[in-house]
Amino acid sequence: MTITKNSIATLHYTLKDDAGEILDIADENNPFLYMHGVGGMIPGLEKALENKAAGDNVVVSVPPAEAYGERNPNLTQDVSREMFSAVDDEEMVVGAQFQAQTDEGVEVITVAAIEGDVIKIDGNHPMAGETLHFDVTILEIRDATEEEISHGHPHGPGGHQH
Ligand SMILES: [Zn+2]
Repeated sequence: MTITKNSIATLHYTLKDDAGEILDIADENNPFLYMHGVGGMIPGLEKALENKAAGDNVVVSVPPAEAYGERNPNLTQDVSREMFSAVDDEEMVVGAQFQAQTDEGVEVITVAAIEGDVIKIDGNHPMAGETLHFDVTILEIRDATEEEISHGHPHGPGGHQH
């Protein structure tokens, strides 16, 4: 069996940036489960996994255009500290991430700088502008159930629990 549209694949991977820093790991404690061909993962990695089989090792570098896009300077803005009145001072630090409701749905914003009462926030994806270096091992491949296909995501361990 190989990975094709609506396959559910279980992966282990290590994700590094250009500097070799580890950004993310999916290992035996935290395997990554995804449904192929439904836009649930970055296009460059999905392309690299197409038609691969269980046991295969896939090493691929994905440029920003096929990952989380280039950084968009227009997504940074200054907001008042009052916008975060529910957030304690200890939590309001550079690098802190919050979910914000926007016209596009829920987005993650990152605190880029704090200057007194002014908070500079950055709405870019934290991995925008990064070339992502993946080392992936495919553990298991199965067909999606009808319920998974109708939801557009995998269920079960490592997937959404609903
Ligand atoms: Zn579901």
